[in-house]
Parts: sequence; C-alpha cells; structure tokens
Amino acid sequence: MQSIQRFILMALAIITSLSFAHDSTAINKMFDKNWQILASFKTKEFHQDFKELTHLNIDIAGVDVKNNYIDVLLTSEDYQVLANLGYELEITQTKGISRGPDEEYKNPEEIALLMQEFADRFPEITHRVSIGKSLEGRDIWAIKISDNPETTEASEPSVLFNSMHHAREIMTPEVGLDIIETLLNGYNSDAKITKWINQYEIWVIPMFNVDGNNKMWNHDRWWRKNNRGGYGVDLNRNYPTGWNKCNGSSGWRSSQTYRGEKPASEPETQAMMNFIETVRPVFNISYHSYSELVLYPYGCSPERTATKDVVETIGKEMGRLLDYAPGTPWELLYNADGGDIDWMYEQYQVIPYVIEVNSRKQGFQPDYAQWRDKTVQRNRAGWQYLLERLEQTGIRGQLTQNQKALSDFTINVYKLDGNGKRSFYSQYVGQKTGYFHLVVQPGTYELEFNSGDTILAKSRHTVADKLAQIAIDISN
Ligand SMILES: [Zn+2]
Repeated sequence: MQSIQRFILMALAIITSLSFAHDSTAINKMFDKNWQILASFKTKEFHQDFKELTHLNIDIAGVDVKNNYIDVLLTSEDYQVLANLGYELEITQTKGISRGPDEEYKNPEEIALLMQEFADRFPEITHRVSIGKSLEGRDIWAIKISDNPETTEASEPSVLFNSMHHAREIMTPEVGLDIIETLLNGYNSDAKITKWINQYEIWVIPMFNVDGNNKMWNHDRWWRKNNRGGYGVDLNRNYPTGWNKCNGSSGWRSSQTYRGEKPASEPETQAMMNFIETVRPVFNISYHSYSELVLYPYGCSPERTATKDVVETIGKEMGRLLDYAPGTPWELLYNADGGDIDWMYEQYQVIPYVIEVNSRKQGFQPDYAQWRDKTVQRNRAGWQYLLERLEQTGIRGQLTQNQKALSDFTINVYKLDGNGKRSFYSQYVGQKTGYFHLVVQPGTYELEFNSGDTILAKSRHTVADKLAQIAIDISN
C-alpha cells in the first residue's frame, strides 16, 4: 500500500474511533457512496454473529473459518451500528481510496471475445453457445469441450463448471478460463485430458452474471447482484428450490441478498435452469469468492441431501485436495436459500458444489500478477477430481422400450443391506434421452423404473469399485 493511502486509512480509523464518542457528523461527511469500507473482526461464535449481521442486513464479504474472522462491507451507518453494538472493527480497505481492480481481470466483452477465440482455434473439440440473454441483453456464453462437439452425444456424461453468479468475484472467471485452456491445450498431448474430452461433454460458463460484472467495472467495484431496476437481484438467491424458505435471503431490494419478486424472476436464472434441464450434468461446480470453502446442499438448516453419503464424501475429498473447509452453508456459515446448487440437486440430482476460492488475505479482487496463476493452479485439483470421479462408483445406463429411448420416467433407488433388506435411497428424474447416471458409493442397489404410477422395470446391481454400465430394455 502506498504511504499516502496508508496515512488516509489511519486518519480515517482515528477519526472514526473518536467521532463515535461525541458526534458522528465528521465521519458521515467522509463516507459517501464512494467511502464504503471493508472491515474485519474476530468472532467468538460464527453462527451468533452471522445471525445478527443478517438481521442488520450487513453485507458479509467473506470469512476465515480457521482463524475466526468475518469480513463485512459497510456504509457509515452500518459502521456506527456495529461499533455501538461493541464490534471491534478493523478497517482494511476503503472503496474511495484504494485502487480499482486490475485491468487484467475480464469484463463481459473480453469474455465474449475469448470464447470466440477458443471456438476458432479448436473447432474439432469445442462448441460455443449462448445459454440465453441477460436482463440487459448480453449473451451468457458457454463452451462445450468434447469430441464431435456439434453433436449431443447422449451416451457421454456431462459436467458443468460455472463462474460468477456474483459480479465482484472477479477471480472466478479466471478459474473457468483456466479450465478451458488446460483442457484444450492438453488434448492429444495429455492422456488423461484426451480421455476426458473423448468420453465426456465438459461445459464451462466462465461468466454468468454479465450485467453485474459490467456494473462492477463501470460503477461500483463491490457490486454483487444483477442490475434489475438499478437495485439488482442476487442471482444466487433467486432459484425456486427453498426460495425465501429459511431467512437465507432478503425481501429488501437494497439488500445484497435480495431474492427477487418471485422464484426465477430473473432471465439469467431462467437461462441456467433451461441449460441444466437440457444438459443434465452429473457434477457441477459454481465458483465464488472468497473464503476457501467447498459447500454442498442444502442451504437451510438442518436439511441434508438424500444422498448425503455421496455428496458429503466427494465434497470432503475436494476440500482435502484443495485444503478448503467442506460443509453445507448452514454448517459453515449461515442459512442460504434459493441457491443454484440446491435447485440443481433437488430438481435434476446434479451432484453440485460451490467452491469459494481465495482467502480473506486476497479478498474479492487481489493483485492479478501475484494471485491469478496461484489460484487457478491450486483449483485444478478440485475440478479434475470430479472428472476422475465420473468413472468411479456409480450406475449409468439407458432405459429403452424395444430399443427406443424412453423419455419420461423416474427411478426410485433402494439400497440393500447384507440381508437383502431394502431401504429407500433416492429418486432420480430420467433424462429425455433415456439415460441416467447415479453417483453412488459401493454397495448393492435396486432400481425401480417408474412412469407415473406404473412400474416399468426393476433391476439390481452391485457396485464395487467403478462405474457399472447397464442397459434396460422393456419389450412388449
Ligand atoms: Zn458469491
């Protein structure tokens, strides 16, 4: 930090601490919209403090769960409220003083150009599509990396890696771009990558919240939401599953976690939902920043997924590989409702994760030269683990009738114990192509294929150490 900045920060801190004792006019004058601050405090009890901060509608920036710190973005009013409540706040950044984000981070136009370049340079293994338009009419770009990219190869499992539901989290598109570049550059030179590209359909959406990011660059470096009505909707509180369910979002437009007028009110949310319904990824990672966490469903306490053994085991393994803390949002942080991963899991049984890259030392917008490569390299272990996990324990197959794909079915999955006694495990919504992909732990499972109230077929499978590939044909 330059010395003049340091001086101003110190002065601000002193004025702040003095002024609350007597009169807060001075500090009020200093804080206008541009004088928002990033402050930190050490917490004695995360859940208690989160509860209070949420109640006060404070913008929580990130946490350090190992050393018990919480970072908050504050207006002058917020600052006074918290100081009066006895929070010992340390100011770490002020928006008006510190320099803006490095220009090397990408804006929506740069992302669009890069996506075009990837498609031009690697036409044999890429297919670029817009999954829909943002509220302001920008394309939300996705790229599929696979052999025969122009064809939908239903027999190949899909995965999705998406970045930037939140506009200020500018490291996250870098992770998406690194996934794309690592895969494209490794094709035909790295055996593992070549196999992944030949056998899977790997989708990357490097920048989801394009409007919000545009606003971040042009108006407000700490902007988080989309740009609905100028106030914005938090896209990651706008999904229908658990929408407004557990105090994990806000009904106030000014809140950073404003959930929107109704479930899936935003075109961006709708675009993602349509995309998931079409592509049916087995795994998903939604990249966010910051806090070094691996989060999985559900966001509301004390709910857990039906397939907790799988969701949690894989999440913990990614946490171990990345040295990030794994857990549900409500275990590690606070209730969060209307998030994308809850919807993906509940609606289409995607095994989905949120990965919060970077620590509070780096924050939302760390020095690019110092942190970009370190961050994306460290995160390779996470997404690559999911690609490896695709061929490990699970059951994949297709349901056909007289060799023709059935498109409207569900599967009730039962797990059998040592005595052959079955207990309900999960339900899976069949893909339109007749395919299904169940990620399970080793064991014996019974699959009951249903169409409405009719049982179409039953089959029993023992999964040992790798993916069991099956075909079920109903003939009449
Ligand atoms: Zn985020």
